[in-house]
Amino acid sequence: MQKSSLRPPKAPTPELPTPDAHPFVDVDLAALCRNFTRLAEASPDALPAAVVKCNGYGLGLGPVSRALAIDRNVRTFFVAHAAVGAELRGILNDLAPHADIFIFNGPTPSTLNVFLEHRLTPVLNTLDQAVLWARRGGGAPAALHIDTGINRLGIRTEQAANAAKIAALNITWVMSHFASAALPDAPKNQEQFAAFVDAADYFPNARKSLASTAGGLLSADYGLDMVRLGVGLYGVGPFGEPDDIVEPVATLRAPILRVEPALRGETAGYDETHRFEEDTVIATVALGYGDGFPRAASNRASCMIGGATRPIVGRISMDLTIIDAGPDYEPNNEADDGCVEIFGKHLPIEKASADCGTIGYELLTSLGPRVERRYFWDDTTADKALTGWSE
Ligand SMILES: *Cc1c(COP(=O)(O)O)cnc(C)c1O
Repeated sequence: MQKSSLRPPKAPTPELPTPDAHPFVDVDLAALCRNFTRLAEASPDALPAAVVKCNGYGLGLGPVSRALAIDRNVRTFFVAHAAVGAELRGILNDLAPHADIFIFNGPTPSTLNVFLEHRLTPVLNTLDQAVLWARRGGGAPAALHIDTGINRLGIRTEQAANAAKIAALNITWVMSHFASAALPDAPKNQEQFAAFVDAADYFPNARKSLASTAGGLLSADYGLDMVRLGVGLYGVGPFGEPDDIVEPVATLRAPILRVEPALRGETAGYDETHRFEEDTVIATVALGYGDGFPRAASNRASCMIGGATRPIVGRISMDLTIIDAGPDYEPNNEADDGCVEIFGKHLPIEKASADCGTIGYELLTSLGPRVERRYFWDDTTADKALTGWSE
């Protein structure tokens, strides 16, 4: 991506599509910041941390982190990998040199020096990692992950007593993670909460964190001392449907390359998987599975074209998708501006991802490098979020 393309216009411009007709995702950084505040308010006693793993859920580690640091004074971040933590340290250096950067996946002997050099805080997930940090972490603080039932990362609850006995281990946070926070009625949530509070007793000096976006919205009790806010920041309702708390942040659009009639009895795309029942007008857009738009959405997902929600027909191919725009579709109409919307401000990402057989998390993080990220923020501080660090 060109550096200059990071400079935001004051508001989304209608001068679309871009000359070489590639797909783009418009990222509304002001909406991201509003989502942060709304989610933080749901857990008023907790420190709100921003989870920016996987390139800020696909939307851009730099702009997302800097927008939150500038506009919401965020100083606590989580990523999965140490190398990304090091990158984030550089991104935030001029703004927040003392930001806390936590690394979910924890240290290994070969990444330990990255932690020390860039002052990254490990989340210790096994007793071996805890011993490694105690021996070679130089007394720096660490978080300890206790697995209370997701069976993914963290020490088992029955290992908590042993972990607490490791000398020279400076555990400032204990954390755990819900398996079923997206399922509000699951009894497992309350069970994990109880198991976590019990295990945390072994670490009386550590603060506690259990909830991600969904957990923080389930119950104010679950907020404890810190909520780790991820998907909701990026405008994806954590319960799989649009909700009142988060507003859309990312709008994926694809330029229209061709509009032509298709006649009754003809077929669309590879393998003739869709046959037209009536004469209609079809539009072909520059977005395909090579951009991260799942082929599984063929003949299932929809998009906004000409102000209406219309079906995607035939197989999605590597670079192209075909849309049945309807018999009355007028090319070059004002509603489209030359582009269709796949999800975003008009078509909820929760619905689009369900149609694609997946979840908003996967749709966002799958967006490939051909999808240009364009950043919008109707505020002059945007310049500071988008420039001034070296990539
Ligand atoms: C990704 C992640 C989060 C953030 O979850 P969201 O559902 O995106 O809010 C929090 N904690 C852990 C351990 C994670 O892996």
